[in-house]
Amino acid sequence: MTVLLKLDGVCASYGDVGVLSRLNLQVSRGGITAILGANGAGKTTLLRTIFNVLVRRQGRVQFEGEDITHLRTPQVVRLGITHVPDGRGTFAQLSVEDNLLLGGYTLGSSQFVRKGMDRVYDLFPRLKERCRQQAGTLSGGEQQMLAIGRALMPNPKLILLDEPSFGLAPQIVAEIFKTLKNINQAGVSLLLVEQNAKIALSVASHVCLIETGEVIRSGPAEELQGDETVRKVYLGY
Ligand code: ATP
Repeated sequence: MTVLLKLDGVCASYGDVGVLSRLNLQVSRGGITAILGANGAGKTTLLRTIFNVLVRRQGRVQFEGEDITHLRTPQVVRLGITHVPDGRGTFAQLSVEDNLLLGGYTLGSSQFVRKGMDRVYDLFPRLKERCRQQAGTLSGGEQQMLAIGRALMPNPKLILLDEPSFGLAPQIVAEIFKTLKNINQAGVSLLLVEQNAKIALSVASHVCLIETGEVIRSGPAEELQGDETVRKVYLGY
């Protein structure tokens, strides 16, 4: 496996409240890495820590061998990492198109922005149909598509996804995960945090279990899928 993203001894906290403690993690280039863990284990915090939003962090984060620990979020985006946050974070008052334009703010040239937009509309024709609609009036599934589309705009190498299945009907979840698989097959690596272990394991190449801010187990998905603890705790059988 070629390592795309590497975390060494990463600690993260909100003020004095420590959440991640000396966490080590490797994300493979070209793969889909799923992070599983109970409520409050620190999954959302892990993604925020990589993207350098909202948390205080220590330790070392490397992307493509480059130390990005002290980079600000816009620089992290320019290097090729984007984030689909929990709750989707779309701008309710803005149109679908304006949300996508904001996702492409680092692109500069209008030609690249147009290309990004075409790529997103090819993947999500429903967004094209609704390009003038206010994001806040979209269905939950459409808002998730918009959040993923916005993260695709700068043509990233790695997308951090926080619970893309949250609050969605099973059919929409299946549709979204099929698209995520397509995005990955087009060469974009994914780091996915999920409560829905079944769907996450169905697409993941690697799996990482976290408990109280520490990685307790990681490995290839097929290996962990057969693991008794994973089956009992995360899959319920
Ligand atoms: P869930 O699956 O329930 O979303 P999670 O594994 O994503 O959980 P986090 O959201 O990372 O967990 O939260 C880890 C811990 O950090 C929790 O104890 C939470 O209360 C705390 N926490 C999260 N956000 C903040 C914040 N902004 N300020 C203070 N504490 C926070």
